[in-house]
Amino acid sequence: MQRYAVFGSPIHHSQSPRIHAEFARQTVIALEYVAIEAGHAEFATALAASGVSGANVTLPLKEDAFALCGERTSARARRAGAVNTLIRQGDRWHGDNTDGLGLVRDLTERHGLDLRERRVLLLGAGGAARGVAPALLDAGIHSLYIVNRTAARADALADALGEPGRVHARALDALPGLGEFDLLVNATSATRGGALPVLPMSLAGPRSVAVDLSYGEAAVPFLAWARAAGCAQALDGLGMLVEQAAESFLLWHGVRPETDAVYTALRTQADALVTAD
Ligand code: NDP
Repeated sequence: MQRYAVFGSPIHHSQSPRIHAEFARQTVIALEYVAIEAGHAEFATALAASGVSGANVTLPLKEDAFALCGERTSARARRAGAVNTLIRQGDRWHGDNTDGLGLVRDLTERHGLDLRERRVLLLGAGGAARGVAPALLDAGIHSLYIVNRTAARADALADALGEPGRVHARALDALPGLGEFDLLVNATSATRGGALPVLPMSLAGPRSVAVDLSYGEAAVPFLAWARAAGCAQALDGLGMLVEQAAESFLLWHGVRPETDAVYTALRTQADALVTAD
């Protein structure tokens, strides 16, 4: 039986083992998928010792995984400078990034959004932001404003995307002057131990859609802000999670599983947990 894993820290909350077990059942593919706790210092050793044929990589390891692959990366991973999917090739690793496609599929196919010509705010410039930014541009958005706590990382991401007419890096203190956005994406991990930056209500209006790439408790503060700011929709990252997992599954096994049933099951569980709190 082939072994797969998701690496990250913290990893106890990860739904990926459950999602991949469901995909495996659905496609009748025998596999084991486990979660392995690893930070920057342990990642390379833990990956080598794990015996996996493929792996997902999450916070805070996506840029480490990109570096580990060297030249062996897909075009979309190179554009992102981040890897969330590792595919074993002999004793080496090929890196890809399915985060962006996962988000765009969730927004356009599950939630029926048309991203073309949208003015988009991206909060964060870490691994997840790097993964979703190229896919949002490819989906035809009008412009992308990247705002990050560490301004240099927002600048670096904007430079890497290479579209100075459409992509703009701004400092956190510039938020009040940025006007209203059609789509606001929270790609920070701010609520996992800290607090969201202060977000002015002027960023959103009655036609705005807000999406937090996190889910569960971590998504509550941003989604509460979005509702208070009058957004038409406030979405969490559960749909993206399932869609990026399906794309990883496709890369490893050559078949894309059906995602609606597992999304519905996770949604029911997540809503019950948040309501219970
Ligand atoms: P990284 O560690 O790579 O990046 C974290 C980002 O959050 C950085 O931009 C960092 O800013 C910012 N940040 C952290 N703390 C604060 C704070 N207190 N105030 C303001 N900004 C802060 O993490 P990832 O990019 O991999 O993940 C980000 C989030 O996206 C996580 O919650 C993760 O769970 C979620 N995610 C969801 C996915 C899904 O499928 N739904 C897929 C991937 C990620 P700075 O640069 O200044 O440190």
